[in-house]
Amino acid sequence: MLQTDVLIIGAGAVGCAIARELTKYQLQVLVVDKNEDVGGDASKSNSAIIHTGYDAPPGTLESQLVVAANPMYEKLTQELDVPYKKVGAILPAITDEQFEMLPALKEKAFKNRVYDVEYLTGEQLLAMEPNLNPEVKAGLYIPRENIIDPFLLVVAYAENAHQNGARFLLGTKVTGIRVEDGKVVAAQTTAGEIKATYIVNAAGLYCDEIAAMVGKNDYYVNPRKGQFYILDKNTSVKVNHIVLPIPTKVTKGKLMCPTVHGNMLVGPTAEDLEDKQDYSTTAEGLASIEADVRKLIPKVNLKDSITQYCGLRPNRNPEGLRVDTYDDVKNYVNLSGVRSTGLTASVSLGKYVAQTLIEMGMPAKFNPNFNPIRKGIPRFHELSYEEKDALIKQNPLYGKVICRCETITEGEIVDAIHRPIPARSVDAIKRRLRAGMGRCQGGFCGPRVIEILARELGVSTQEILKNQPGSYMIAGQVRGERVMANV
Ligand SMILES: Cc1cc2nc3c(=O)[nH]c(=O)nc-3n(C[C@H](O)[C@H](O)[C@H](O)COP(=O)(O)OP(=O)(O)OC[C@H]3O[C@@H](n4cnc5c(N)ncnc54)[C@H](O)[C@@H]3O)c2cc1C
Repeated sequence: MLQTDVLIIGAGAVGCAIARELTKYQLQVLVVDKNEDVGGDASKSNSAIIHTGYDAPPGTLESQLVVAANPMYEKLTQELDVPYKKVGAILPAITDEQFEMLPALKEKAFKNRVYDVEYLTGEQLLAMEPNLNPEVKAGLYIPRENIIDPFLLVVAYAENAHQNGARFLLGTKVTGIRVEDGKVVAAQTTAGEIKATYIVNAAGLYCDEIAAMVGKNDYYVNPRKGQFYILDKNTSVKVNHIVLPIPTKVTKGKLMCPTVHGNMLVGPTAEDLEDKQDYSTTAEGLASIEADVRKLIPKVNLKDSITQYCGLRPNRNPEGLRVDTYDDVKNYVNLSGVRSTGLTASVSLGKYVAQTLIEMGMPAKFNPNFNPIRKGIPRFHELSYEEKDALIKQNPLYGKVICRCETITEGEIVDAIHRPIPARSVDAIKRRLRAGMGRCQGGFCGPRVIEILARELGVSTQEILKNQPGSYMIAGQVRGERVMANV
């Protein structure tokens, strides 16, 4: 039977950040996730913005965590070798009604102690963003709203936690929690029972189901779907900043922003659902994005879309981000309502949960061997000619470009497959390296990635998965040719 000091349920941004934080102490840490890879559910399908917390509900835990987290990202992304770009956000008021709302938004920012939010004139905004609606009256500038690679953030948290001693048990679902004498003692999983002194519920969309396992049924979670367009890097109409709409009472609205890799992101919708598996994009949802974003960027060219996707925000009912502990279920920490800002809050939630466990009595002896530095796979396309040449001499596989759209080499793919948290599926490669994320969406490199995965994992190409069990990429053979199943 597996045994650990702390068991974390969920290997999304939050679970992995908590794991990394806990490896700063002399503890056994085990992360379990039902998915076959780290990366979570919501953590891989969001807007990739590191928020300031300017618009969080003032006085809440969410405000506290997001405001605290934002300044940590510069150092964190350097330590973890994660792409992060300081772009800033603008909030333009196009109508008179929106103009009237600016003072209240600035006051909210002030209440959240985000003091660097400033007014800008319409002229200043147009100078910063020439593609903005020319009718813009004025707006706000939020200089520290920035963008990150969300996939690599989670992989990097996990790899650094692993490097410092944390273990990961993936493809393993928690099905029950054993509570004895008012204290958690073990989790039942599809891989057997895991004895644990402390259990942390970081299960995102499913945190209510985990909470119910310890008898806590005081809230439920429904998915709030957010659909997006991703535009080609060469789209004719771009923005340099995160261009945010003035929020309404119901939604933060749909934005347009660059990604750290140079694409444009347009969306998301906010649709309340019941089905936690509904990852469909819909004609209505995409049409609503177009209608709304055109009010901000009238010439946005959605024909340059290379793909669309959707994410499900874990919407807590009743609302609010919470970290709960219970007198009648000791040694258990329950996270819920980590909804729209959890990517940002992950780093401060890691610290908050560690402190919560310490206050519960968890021994907190500093681990003097903790190493905060994680070195990622070399990003070939970012290197100088001299660096590329040296890398190819060292490993000739770096001289073979597999993904032509993103210039990803065989060397990078092979490295990703053999990392401590290995990439074992087509999507796992895509999220770590961007092979298949470019204009052709894997049309050219897909079959080569499958062949490399099969070769390195020592299996047949027919066994290679897109992501989850059963998601085979190759259906079979027709006249000696392989037939792609999932592209
Ligand atoms: C459309 C959209 C836009 C967003 N934009 C932003 C943004 O720009 N900036 C920002 O900061 N945040 C944003 N967010 C929010 C952010 O993505 C989430 O708050 C954050 O990713 C939540 O991370 P998590 O680790 O809590 O959850 P997840 O990433 O969902 O991870 C939870 C994990 O728990 C696992 N799990 C669940 N049940 C079990 C079980 N029984 N056994 C084992 N494992 C289990 C799941 O498999 C999953 O891997 C956005 C979210 C969405 C959907």
